[in-house]
Amino acid sequence: MANHLFDTIRSKMTDPNRLFMETPDGARMTYAELVAETGRYANALTALSIKPGDRVAVQLEKSPAVIFIYLACVRIGAVFLPLNTGYTLNELDYFISDSGASLVVCDPQAEAGLSEIAKRHHAQLETHGRNASGSLYEKAAKAPADFTDVARGPDDLAAILYTSGTTGRSKGAMLSHDNLASNAIALVETWRFTPNDILIHALPVFHTHGLFVATNVTLIAGSCLIFLPKFDAKLVLSYMDRASVLMGVPTFYTRLLDEAGLNKEATAKMRLFISGSAPLLAETHREWMKRTGHAILERYGMTETNMNTSNPYDGDRIPGTVGMPLPGVEARIVDPETGVSLARGEIGMIEVKGPNVFKGYWNMPEKTKAEFRQDGFFITGDLGQFDERGYLSIVGRGKDLIISGGLNIYPKEVEEEIDALSGVVESAVIGLPHPDFGEGVVAVIVREKNATLDEKAVMAGLDGRLARFKLPKRIFFVDELPRNTMGKVQKNLLRDSYKDLRFN
Ligand code: AMP
Repeated sequence: MANHLFDTIRSKMTDPNRLFMETPDGARMTYAELVAETGRYANALTALSIKPGDRVAVQLEKSPAVIFIYLACVRIGAVFLPLNTGYTLNELDYFISDSGASLVVCDPQAEAGLSEIAKRHHAQLETHGRNASGSLYEKAAKAPADFTDVARGPDDLAAILYTSGTTGRSKGAMLSHDNLASNAIALVETWRFTPNDILIHALPVFHTHGLFVATNVTLIAGSCLIFLPKFDAKLVLSYMDRASVLMGVPTFYTRLLDEAGLNKEATAKMRLFISGSAPLLAETHREWMKRTGHAILERYGMTETNMNTSNPYDGDRIPGTVGMPLPGVEARIVDPETGVSLARGEIGMIEVKGPNVFKGYWNMPEKTKAEFRQDGFFITGDLGQFDERGYLSIVGRGKDLIISGGLNIYPKEVEEEIDALSGVVESAVIGLPHPDFGEGVVAVIVREKNATLDEKAVMAGLDGRLARFKLPKRIFFVDELPRNTMGKVQKNLLRDSYKDLRFN
């Protein structure tokens, strides 16, 4: 048996002398060098007695080493477990214990805080600095480059990614070699990646977007990464005269739109702008089109499923939609209560099935069972609808649905009406406990600078645009909406902030 994921990557590596990565400090690495480097890390991990199936937990600032360790884990058959750099020691304690990690790799400065936790959970602890430093770096630097990949089949685990867990404990999504390989192949085809592409990589690498979508697509296409330590609008813009693709979360695009230098000329060499991980405002899409002449391509995915749908490369990229299912992926809309398929145009739960869908939640067989239908479809928790042309739109997370007076209100339809009012930058609509209605609609709005819009003006603007039961019962103005690192509005935090609200 071969190593399913790494063999897939190797099989696409037609020219080992092509460039795989460059960094802002001018360092460049070819595919041949990548194989050698990951071989060194594979040997170093093997010397630490990491065996196939063992979990390797990694909390490191973004650097090429994270990619080397990820691929080394794939090559030795271990399970790569990236952790958000924002996690506290308390959270890390949970992840290390829950995953039963054999090895934890952290930044040298985090070693003191983590050593007791690692010891208590019988995990080894190694360090790796952003630059050539740390105990694992030293071991890999001395190790030989030659490594014979460990045999792994399509269903063997390649990674566990903990979901952001906005309610309850975060869950470890188990992703197999084929979950990752099949999705990368589907995306390369859908987005027409070739070895000539140069992707600006400014995403974090502890999340599915930066780690798998951006990196695996590059590897499978034999393209090149411009690997930036973090998103910086000016820096990203400065690379657009040499790159061809940008993958980003919606905030990348809104921040880039604030740059005076963003125009048709600056983006003339780029062939594709992709957005995902959070909803892209239709307004951002239109503004981007006006300024650059490019239609942003929006896609939809999640940690558990990799990517599910994408707007077309050649056909219309419709703002506010996430396009059609990727090749090999099935998506349907069902009644959340009964599981019965709904007709086109109706809103319901989005369910997906295909080689992209994960193997279940680590150590949580009951939770896994509850989130799959008997026919193998995964219940995403997102609500959406297909239009007559087969484009999917997401109306929000199921748990964000507001039920007021027994009637369903999808926050997005209210947000869209509010966002269309002059003077509004964006809004978030939430439901809060209401003594008569069960839940009452509350809107939290960010105004444009100098806008004088007040509660009365918003209500006047919405009059006649929405059924009365959908109208906000209270409106708050804030400077900005709370977002996580992937740009998602954290409605749970908003609900928390206003939990003592009394409707009158
Ligand atoms: P994560 O597991 O962190 O990638 O989060 C996945 C969730 O992000 C999905 O279940 C959706 O709720 C949301 N999401 C991802 N892409 C989009 C998109 N293009 N539009 C709206 N929501 C999205």
